[in-house]
Amino acid sequence: MDAAKYQGVIKRYFNYLPVGKNTPVITLLEGNTPLIFSGRLSEFLGRRFKVYLKFEGANPTGSFKDRGMTLAVSKAKEEKQVAVICASTGNTSASAAAYASRAGLKCIVLIPEGAIALGKLAQALIHQAVVIPIKGNFDTALSLVREISANYPVRLVNSLNPHRIEGQKTASFEICDTLGRAPDFHILPVGNAGNITAYWKGYKEYKAEGRIRRLPAMLGFQAKGACPIVKGRVFKHPKTLATAIRIGNPASWKKAEAARDQSKGLIDAVSDREIIKAYKMLALEGIFVEPASAASIAGLIKLKQQGYFKQPGRKEVVITCTLTGHGLKDPDIAVKSVRTPKSVSPDVKKILRIAKIKK
Ligand SMILES: *Cc1c(COP(=O)(O)O)cnc(C)c1O
Repeated sequence: MDAAKYQGVIKRYFNYLPVGKNTPVITLLEGNTPLIFSGRLSEFLGRRFKVYLKFEGANPTGSFKDRGMTLAVSKAKEEKQVAVICASTGNTSASAAAYASRAGLKCIVLIPEGAIALGKLAQALIHQAVVIPIKGNFDTALSLVREISANYPVRLVNSLNPHRIEGQKTASFEICDTLGRAPDFHILPVGNAGNITAYWKGYKEYKAEGRIRRLPAMLGFQAKGACPIVKGRVFKHPKTLATAIRIGNPASWKKAEAARDQSKGLIDAVSDREIIKAYKMLALEGIFVEPASAASIAGLIKLKQQGYFKQPGRKEVVITCTLTGHGLKDPDIAVKSVRTPKSVSPDVKKILRIAKIKK
């Protein structure tokens, strides 16, 4: 593909999406994100294993939400809506605010008070969304926007909006187009469960079209303090430092279970400690993600340690992991999870001692 001619996911996958020639395409050239081979993780899993990281932090607003938002906002514009609305742990609002601005639509954002990462809040604010912090958690905010969008000419752009899922499924298309096959396993974090639903839909459609021969097992990871699907019960007070997956009652719960069961995969949980460990490990490979994204890698490590990937045979095993959002979204956590440097006097010897550099 000629990069200079890249026009975003709607144009690239036009025939796979619910769009027509009258759809105004609102795009920031989202998608076409890097699929990065990880030598270290591949080696950690052993010979035959190839681990690839789909770095969705490279999207225009820094998360995979842009794939769904380009479609949701284009359709809202086509269908003459005056505004879009969402509840958000941060990235949905950042993306909605950017795409709504581009489309000339008003954007209304309900966020759980005090529970949203600084970078994401900055994004919604600078794009001039109407940001309304709610005394309550994400699930409360979501039920409010559902009520408002059902009764007013305001389009809901949470992943309950089917256009979001349609746009997000393009990530699996890209993976298959790049690898020339489907992975054997696909690992991703699960919050509201829209993305696991979207990936699974994408893989199934590519199989139905004959573009791939087999389907991956879908392996989803929630945070231990917010793992309703794993436990089979709503979490009234979800708790995790991975704010993007701090969700106690996922909207796409049933669809995530269907993806898990149809693909013979699993949905499990990882602790905040495991998440931060994976987060720092990725950083040492040059990749800066937000904590929720590291749940994929924490999950990969956990499964490897449990012997999950012990498969008979000699065939190559391909694992893809979605890294959902960029680390710059949540700089507070980055700074808190490492030792902060102390100032020193301007002295070459001191600097060399600290940097451990010798002649
Ligand atoms: C939205 C989001 C998730 C969770 O995705 P769901 O579709 O809600 O399961 C995970 N990580 C990041 C960075 C996100 O923005």
